[in-house]
Amino acid sequence: MNGYKAPDIRSGHGVCREVRNIPGRVLAVSMDIPWELFQKHCSWTPDHVYMVPDMDLETVEQAEKTLPPCDTVVGIGGGSSCDMAKYIAWKRGCRMVLIPTIISVDAPLTNTIAVRVDKKVTYIGNIFPEELLVDYSLIQEAPPELNRAGACDIASIHTGLYDWRLTHEDTGERYDAAIAAEARECLAELDRNAEEVYQVTPKGIDTIVDLYRREVRFCAIFGNSRPEEGSEHLVAYNIEHITRRHFLHGDLVAFGLFAMTRLQQHEHEWMVSLMRRCGLRYLCPDASRDELRQALLTLKSFKDSAGLFYSIVDKIPITQEFVEDTLAALNCQK
Ligand SMILES: [Zn+2]
Repeated sequence: MNGYKAPDIRSGHGVCREVRNIPGRVLAVSMDIPWELFQKHCSWTPDHVYMVPDMDLETVEQAEKTLPPCDTVVGIGGGSSCDMAKYIAWKRGCRMVLIPTIISVDAPLTNTIAVRVDKKVTYIGNIFPEELLVDYSLIQEAPPELNRAGACDIASIHTGLYDWRLTHEDTGERYDAAIAAEARECLAELDRNAEEVYQVTPKGIDTIVDLYRREVRFCAIFGNSRPEEGSEHLVAYNIEHITRRHFLHGDLVAFGLFAMTRLQQHEHEWMVSLMRRCGLRYLCPDASRDELRQALLTLKSFKDSAGLFYSIVDKIPITQEFVEDTLAALNCQK
């Protein structure tokens, strides 16, 4: 089961101040904006503070080698801060505490570390976060649309399960009905709490964090992220591949969900409603219509050349007509 360890998650208003009780030498890893924000909520001077400049593999390796020794590394911020802390703790085998200041990505719960090699995201390492301080006041200061974006990797269970089942039937790939049922229950939990997620209430924050926790657990038991990643992620990866720009992950996956539920003919209206209620931006505001068009038209060839997994994209051809209809349907959503 990949060394899975269940995390101890403490959540509440002001829980970030518990960081002051950590004994021994403490190394804090953060970035300018989250660190400034954090200091407003908690006056604390660790033995050393390191500001993450980027997540290029060389930067990450160099930082770990040159930073002072520590008994505990504390990651404060979003995906990059958490991943840098994970890398240091993984290499050094020291204690790690994560304080997410935003819940737009699942990095505070996953065991892998996203680094960039030649500008491409690659996953390395293996360390399951064991201690999290989820401070509502801190997280609620982030722009709400960024926190809402965290729902995308739960919503993707919908298309992911369809593609997984299809792959099992077409290619005989391993399928686990009990895990599929658990994943479906996570999707239902998101549906029940969509309004809380949209409002970024404590309940909404707990919902996202707890669903990440459950998802990481069942993916670790199964051995990969098949239960939650389907063709909607292929769309997201292809938009990044075509544009070479950085996007909010939730925007890309949301557009992927919009398009792939149409291709799958799989409860598209319900998915649009769920995304609307959670505040997922399926209009993908930072990509042009032509970039979205190209991402769909080249999806199959991109997927083939990158050697990515089987899905609806292998079963149903994406025609010019489908693409234009999808973009027209998207325009009606404005
Ligand atoms: Zn994702």
